[in-house]
Amino acid sequence: MARYRESVCRLCRREGLKLFLKGDRCYSEKCAFERREYAPGDHGQMRRKPTDYCVQLRAKQKLRRMYGLLEKQFHGYYEKADRIKGITGTNLLILLERRLDNMVFRMGFANSRTEARQLVRHNHFSVNGKKVNIPSYLVKVGDEIAVREGSRKIARIAEALESVARRGVPQWLVLDKDNFKGAVRLLPTRDELTMPVQEQLVVELYSK
Ligand code: SF4
Repeated sequence: MARYRESVCRLCRREGLKLFLKGDRCYSEKCAFERREYAPGDHGQMRRKPTDYCVQLRAKQKLRRMYGLLEKQFHGYYEKADRIKGITGTNLLILLERRLDNMVFRMGFANSRTEARQLVRHNHFSVNGKKVNIPSYLVKVGDEIAVREGSRKIARIAEALESVARRGVPQWLVLDKDNFKGAVRLLPTRDELTMPVQEQLVVELYSK
């Protein structure tokens, strides 16, 4: 599968926002965005008035990069969200939140979505007692996500759980840290998704 191989810190600098793609480093003074808060490249510090298209594009790229998705996959979520009853933008955010790799990250079993994706791929998690190694698996309300028995000694998972207090576990999830498991209590409402994204701009871009 194709994947992004360049420096992910450039993505934060391009979007003008910390996307928290590198785990602990994002909270330290080594964060590239903290040190160079402007877009990468020779013209990164130039100021230009963005066009409407540019604003919509950046909103889409920001959201897509936050969840670590490639364009085709992200567009697939938009199409799915558009078919669901309700507000397309909100549907899109909820679909993205329901991904298993995101849930693993949100529950605190990994320090970033990238790390969560790798851990899921490497068979370290189960959903309702069954091994699931598909990061895009869509979790439902009531599902229980657990670190599999043989994977509980993995240092990365233990370290992530140690620092979970710093990030906090969202209200719609329940974490049972001692037993290496968590559950989806509810799906989030739009108000509970506090990351700075403007999903309506993404909808405007795709519905042209
Ligand atoms: Fe972004 Fe994290 Fe890199 Fe900072 S350290 S620029 S938040 S990925």
